[in-house]
Amino acid sequence: MNDCLFCRIAAGEIPATVLYEDDQHIAFRDINPAAPVHAIVIPKAHYGTLLDVPDAGVHGALLEAACAAARALGLEQGGFRLVANFGGDGGQEVMHVHWHLLGGRLLGWPPG
Ligand code: AMP
Ligand code: ZN
Repeated sequence: MNDCLFCRIAAGEIPATVLYEDDQHIAFRDINPAAPVHAIVIPKAHYGTLLDVPDAGVHGALLEAACAAARALGLEQGGFRLVANFGGDGGQEVMHVHWHLLGGRLLGWPPG
């Protein structure tokens, strides 16, 4: 979708710091990081939200990519958090499904 910010990042039309990539996914540095490591992990294909993802295969592959990104970023030992926002209460702002991968500091719980 050419009016989607994350599709445009995946296509290389908008610059981003790429932290991990495979055939179907890309992880890039969040422009407003909430932790020392804050990556946005997306499928290159466009799905608007978690609830638009068509099947378990797409969900699973995205989660696997997020785990691979965590390993690639050296978060295995210290730990990390994956967050997917949905809807008004969840606070999703960019309508291209994504996981936030956060690490590099002790993360508080519950989230705000
Ligand atoms: P969400 O609220 O879950 O939709 O999160 C969207 C995230 O995308 C926010 O953490 C933003 O900081 C991040 N973001 C917005 N624009 C960009 C951009 N151009 N490059 C990287 N991250 C971005
Ligand atoms: Zn998109």
